[in-house]
Amino acid sequence: MADGYDCVVIGSGPGGYVAAIRAAQLGMKTAIVERDRIGGRCLNYACIPAKSVLRAADVLSEVGDAAKFGIEVQGTSVDFGGVGTHRDKVVKTLTSGVAGLMKKHEVEVVESHGKLTSEGNVAAGDRELETDKVVLATGSVAKPLLDLEFSDRVLDTAAAWLLDEQPRRLAVIGAGASGTEIASAYGRLGTEVVLLEALPQILPLEDEEIAKACAREIRKQNVTIVADANVSSAKPGDSSVTLDWGDGNQEFDYLCIAAGRGADTDGLGLDDAGVETDERGAVKVDGAMRTSRDGVYAIGDLVPGPALAHKASDEGVIAVEDAAGEPTRPLDHDAIPAATFCHPQVASFGMTEKQARDAGHDVAIGKVPLGAVGAPTVYGDRGGMIKLVGDKRYGELLGAHIVCAKAADLIQELVQARELEGGFTEVAHTIHAHPTFSEAVMEAARAADGWLVHG
Ligand SMILES: Cc1cc2nc3c(=O)[nH]c(=O)nc-3n(C[C@H](O)[C@H](O)[C@H](O)COP(=O)(O)OP(=O)(O)OC[C@H]3O[C@@H](n4cnc5c(N)ncnc54)[C@H](O)[C@@H]3O)c2cc1C
Repeated sequence: MADGYDCVVIGSGPGGYVAAIRAAQLGMKTAIVERDRIGGRCLNYACIPAKSVLRAADVLSEVGDAAKFGIEVQGTSVDFGGVGTHRDKVVKTLTSGVAGLMKKHEVEVVESHGKLTSEGNVAAGDRELETDKVVLATGSVAKPLLDLEFSDRVLDTAAAWLLDEQPRRLAVIGAGASGTEIASAYGRLGTEVVLLEALPQILPLEDEEIAKACAREIRKQNVTIVADANVSSAKPGDSSVTLDWGDGNQEFDYLCIAAGRGADTDGLGLDDAGVETDERGAVKVDGAMRTSRDGVYAIGDLVPGPALAHKASDEGVIAVEDAAGEPTRPLDHDAIPAATFCHPQVASFGMTEKQARDAGHDVAIGKVPLGAVGAPTVYGDRGGMIKLVGDKRYGELLGAHIVCAKAADLIQELVQARELEGGFTEVAHTIHAHPTFSEAVMEAARAADGWLVHG
């Protein structure tokens, strides 16, 4: 198109900015419309600030363990302002990096609210961006519970990570990945945390055994876990929030609600453009991320599936490759890794042991404690386990579940093995460097294959 675009992306989170770069690489004239900050929620308010504060908690824990290594450290204390400075510096570095990538790939950044028009173009302020293809990547927003509204004292997860003062007492409702990360970071930094979960275990989507092992460690971090919690009321005041969960009232400096998000479709013009949503408000898409409106794609938190940054970016690639006429294949949801960056980390993909048994597989379990191999002892982080769930018939990897200091990195090799159509036998026969944590992955695969060596 002479004056228009081949592709306009609305939203610059990990889904949107990766889609825009890939579109540009495919020779499409591309613009990205962002009404807030480049990098989206992931880089500015969610994944990255969260991991930056968690890293500060990790450093404090390591300093606390220094004596075990013969290193004397005196007078450790938390400078919460300094934690915030580290967080903000990381965010700035990474968002500047994304802005630089937009320049490098000649993607035009339009700072405005974007809205689909009935013609399938994008209205951005007083401009109408004519375009062949649109990618909607506007993410999701937190939803409060208990008829509450988010405020200075009732925080969503993003606000909890961006606090400028360290709470003395913090209540967190919801022990999924975000809630558990908040509890583990603030607890280790010295806040008294109560983590309330309506279901019987923290990290309810994770394998029961793994979640239990994680909970045992989290309880040592200044965190009280209340499972099967039935919070009946929460009353925010000027400087505190009072919670009632059947055990009497307790007062906290802040309440963080870490349960429930919904697609951000506000003011996006979906109805006018004929883009359909499902009963939960997510945009309906097919395997190539096409919506019900020709030429309009949707990706990331806006569409069904787990709310994860790497899922969003992969969907962005699929969408624009399809838009450019390239062949694509649908995302394999069973192969999306999920990671929780508490200490110890928890990471997994695919079926839990229970799901595999319920589905009628001839289940092979390969399980080893991290202490079975050398590296965790060297590094002073022996806690945790690796659990592989496979099918005996073909050695297929149905799922993997890890709880340990480096779980988020270790899960990747198993996702890769599955992607390359390898099973636990192939992982068991793959050379792993010594001494590394990854040797425990190999041992778990050997265990599933029936020939555990160490352990
Ligand atoms: C506290 C927290 C921690 C998390 N940690 C992790 C993690 O460690 N790992 C992980 O994989 N996932 C994590 N997530 C989830 C992850 O943040 C999301 O899955 C990811 O951000 C989704 O990316 P997205 O591209 O769909 O949109 P987002 O990152 O939500 O970005 C959407 C962008 O669209 C913009 N926008 C919205 N509407 C419009 C409009 N009409 N016009 C113009 N712009 C618009 C918004 O301003 C925003 O910048 C976390 C989430 C939270 C809340």
